[in-house]
Amino acid sequence: MTTFKTLGLEDVFLQAIQDMGFETPSEVQEKTIPLLLQQETDLVSLAQTGTGKTAAFGFPMLQKIRVESRDTQGLILSPTRELCLQITQELKLYGAHLKGLNVVAIYGGASITDQAKKIKKGAQIIVATPGRMKDMIGRGMIDISKIEYCVLDEADEMLNMGFYEDITEILSYSPEDKNTWLFSATMPKEVAKIAQEFMHNPQEVTVGAKNVGANSVTHEYYLVAARDRYQALKRLADAHPDIFSVIFCRTKRDTQKVAEMLIEDGYNAAALHGDLSQNQRDLVMKSFRTRQIQMLVATDVAARGIDVDDITHVINYQLPDEIETYTHRSGRTGRAGKTGVSMVIVSKSEVRKIKSIEKIIQKSFVAKDIPSGMEICEKQLFHLASKVAETEINHEIDPYLPAISQVLEQFDKDQLIKKFFSVEFSRFFNYYKKAKDLNIPDLSGSESATGGNKKSKYSIRFFINLGRKDGLAWMDLKDLVREVTGLGKEEVFHVDTMDSFSFFNTDQNQYDRVVKAFDGVFFHDRPIEIERSDERGRRGKFKSGKAFGKKFKKGKYKNDADASFSAKRGRKSGSTSTFKGKGRRRGERPDVPGTRGKRRRR
Ligand code: AMP
Repeated sequence: MTTFKTLGLEDVFLQAIQDMGFETPSEVQEKTIPLLLQQETDLVSLAQTGTGKTAAFGFPMLQKIRVESRDTQGLILSPTRELCLQITQELKLYGAHLKGLNVVAIYGGASITDQAKKIKKGAQIIVATPGRMKDMIGRGMIDISKIEYCVLDEADEMLNMGFYEDITEILSYSPEDKNTWLFSATMPKEVAKIAQEFMHNPQEVTVGAKNVGANSVTHEYYLVAARDRYQALKRLADAHPDIFSVIFCRTKRDTQKVAEMLIEDGYNAAALHGDLSQNQRDLVMKSFRTRQIQMLVATDVAARGIDVDDITHVINYQLPDEIETYTHRSGRTGRAGKTGVSMVIVSKSEVRKIKSIEKIIQKSFVAKDIPSGMEICEKQLFHLASKVAETEINHEIDPYLPAISQVLEQFDKDQLIKKFFSVEFSRFFNYYKKAKDLNIPDLSGSESATGGNKKSKYSIRFFINLGRKDGLAWMDLKDLVREVTGLGKEEVFHVDTMDSFSFFNTDQNQYDRVVKAFDGVFFHDRPIEIERSDERGRRGKFKSGKAFGKKFKKGKYKNDADASFSAKRGRKSGSTSTFKGKGRRRGERPDVPGTRGKRRRR
């Protein structure tokens, strides 16, 4: 097994690695660290943020520099202030046991004199954004004439941001014979040109991109009329009550406008773009990190370097001009082992771009429908019910309880539930009561997860007591439903997963088949419950502890080739038999003579 030790790192670094809790080297580290330690070479590495690339160049650089000298020996150029600070912080941790190490961050929007003072003390490594670096070299505050190692980090982003000239100028002050290590998520022509111009026979390392095309990110597109873009955005947000998202617009103006409209409409939103002062941007990012902001509307440039791991959705309000940029956008979600969704709101004139993006990310998009007003209300309602069920009671309310009870004493439980929900729901119901269908027919021929609007008319919506807490994303749930019912890809649609439950649609005439197929089926040890979603509410089943309690165990169902959900068919005797989900055809399932007493029969 490869360890950090076998990669050739010295004890001072192994100690730091242990302190940080890294157990095994990541792919890019495994491929890059030994190479850079053993050879004096230029390097081009295709690797994303999140793959561990900072350590991949950081450790070799730290091990190779002479810490007893005060000369600047290493320079790392990165596109944004955030990334620059992040790299500096990481390098300090990697070199925590290296006595005399001085790593200095150089970036715009902070005092240049303070930075110059730090450099004067002797910085073996400088991590810088190109603009400020060029400025300080020009003013004679920094000398890079003796650097031996230069890293161009996120080279594609630096070029996207128009730093080509700055980089060229900076490098002209550095020695010809230094080693240049270039890291980039993509390899557009401009990056290849940089490699050709500034590097000599670079070694190449490509890593299975973690963020791009990784299974952790699902790509969806929603086809709407251009004038309905904003309405579509709102519906997507409303259909995902726990959304924590970055919304990308093409221009600063649109970014500001969309953020303002969202704020006006009552969302926790803010804009992030280059016209804000550094102070304002810091404030926005702080609020976003602490989740006071749920929807961060950003330009591509401003969003670079956002290092927030839990982003659930990236929404492309508009597609970027350069489709390669899509990779960076979608890479903001699905980080740190989490799953994420990258949604594109697309108009007819842009829909062909989806195909080009698919080629770049090497993954297919799923065409989905913008949820209808009533679907959104339904989602919000169930979400609230879940939240109520899971909320810990706050006993500070106790002293007021007698008085509150008196005010509400004339109502029975059903009425109270209805009243509480109405308080919360009037906004949604009133707004969405007459909301129009925003979808337009998709003639692009892409796969549709939802079956398109044509199906909605005669379809039936089911509630199922499985959700994200069972480890099921919507695609897993769709697979599961298809598995159990034997229905085809197009026959199960409008699949929406919530935390503890989900919804899906089938054609109306499949109703009996679906109900029968799920009769007595278990997900692990739990009976699967399925009902028409419209009847569920009417029959007042919200109280079911099963569907809304915290009791769910994590499911083991995974949507990969050899995983299966362990479903059991219940028998009257109580004995169960397990069957494998994948590869089973309907005819092969054990027959079920009866069901468990607990199950609701229809
Ligand atoms: P990067 O791709 O350099 O932005 O790194 C992403 C994150 O992964 C950083 O927070 C690193 O501290 C962390 N990291 C880097 N290498 C490893 C590793 N081998 N094991 C665990 N975490 C790592």
